[in-house]
Amino acid sequence: MLIFNKPQEIGAWVRERRGGGARVALVPTMGALHAGHMSLVSLGRELSDATVLYIFVNPAQFNDPSDLEKYPRTLERDLELAKAEGVDAVFAPIARDIYPAGFEPGKTCSVRAGSCALGYEGEGRPGHFDGVCTVLTIMFNIVAPDIAIFGEKDYQQLQVVRQMVRDLRLPLKIAAGRLIRDEDGLALSSRNVRLSESGRREALVLSRSLFAAAAKVKTGEKRAESIEQDVRREVESSGKVRLEYAAVVDADSLERVQHIEKPCRLLLAAVVDGVRLLDNIHLEP
Ligand code: AMP
Repeated sequence: MLIFNKPQEIGAWVRERRGGGARVALVPTMGALHAGHMSLVSLGRELSDATVLYIFVNPAQFNDPSDLEKYPRTLERDLELAKAEGVDAVFAPIARDIYPAGFEPGKTCSVRAGSCALGYEGEGRPGHFDGVCTVLTIMFNIVAPDIAIFGEKDYQQLQVVRQMVRDLRLPLKIAAGRLIRDEDGLALSSRNVRLSESGRREALVLSRSLFAAAAKVKTGEKRAESIEQDVRREVESSGKVRLEYAAVVDADSLERVQHIEKPCRLLLAAVVDGVRLLDNIHLEP
């Protein structure tokens, strides 16, 4: 496995591979890798001839400085995991090489996310998706892959990226990997390491409430509000988990729906032990 730190080097390597006819997949990550990230690598390997994984904790997408500071960084272990999973090249740059002039929207050029960024994460974390779109545009320009792979774990982010690629005619395809959970149902996340043992147990109410919601929709419940209320009730009954939002949305546009008549997504965010967790589930009427 090759490891690159400099934009020019990864750019040249990908150009050479693509010039030789190989299809290159990019898996963007912030490191602290786990089986969720690895599932994206494995999808990348299925869909391409060479898989590049980038590890970059993007300062531009953190609106809370302490969240950025506390974000887990485990580069050595990440490299071992990436190698074991068959990643061909890792790109692990420093911030100065990605933002040579810094990141100051209004001063430096940035990308403004579209309507998929409204509400949910976009509401609670102002500027977050603009930071995501900006770093991805820079990374897509540096690496220039045929395809980039994102997890359904961050469902709103996936839709924001799809919208950006569509609206700006970016010359690559987006593929999505399903959300990977731990055996007990907890959605895998780099932030899970910050949960205490009891917090981790309490957090299971999130996936439990989503599974119950999906089952209820399958048996005929169509009222989004009733589904949202069930989730709120179940999560709040635990006492230890603070629900930020639970919303039934159109699976493509992310607009709020009242009646579940076509495939929808139930999105939620909650705080457990001071750790903010996201989860979501597909709802099939
Ligand atoms: P992150 O490192 O948290 O920015 O995530 C990098 C990529 O991995 C994003 O596309 C995430 O959606 C994806 N990802 C994170 N956790 C999971 C998971 N549990 N299952 C599937 N994909 C995930």
